[in-house]
Amino acid sequence: MPSKKNANNPLPPDSFASKLQSDFKEFTFRTGTKFAFRFPKTITLGPEEPFYELLALHELSHALLKHKGFKTDVERLKMENQAWDKAKELAKNYNIEVDEDFIQDQLDTYRDWLHQKSRCPSCGLTRFQDSDGVYHCPRCENFT
Ligand SMILES: [Zn+2]
Ligand SMILES: [Zn+2]
Repeated sequence: MPSKKNANNPLPPDSFASKLQSDFKEFTFRTGTKFAFRFPKTITLGPEEPFYELLALHELSHALLKHKGFKTDVERLKMENQAWDKAKELAKNYNIEVDEDFIQDQLDTYRDWLHQKSRCPSCGLTRFQDSDGVYHCPRCENFT
């Protein structure tokens, strides 16, 4: 059953999005302002752009890999890596060219983000995150 939202915002016929929808009926594809996956079944496809198909396959990969959420930022980066590996696999089935530079750029934004977040605001040292997602600074917490 298509959701009400989906009915208001139908996938363009004969588009890559509607092809994915018919190949992966277990998920709900919808169009939106940006690419996203919401566990467990909703895949939002952003506007047309040069790497539209790859980005769509990336979000589909999050769905196929059942990526629910993450406790730590390292975990998040790992999920992003896994989803890109899966997207590359899927790209072969759809004859979509894999642009490795684009993928590395996408991952770099997460790497930069991780790097910035892990920096201790008081001393600048790289902190570590425990299993609950709390950051600890090895210098400030041990030597003050
Ligand atoms: Zn992702
Ligand atoms: Zn510190």
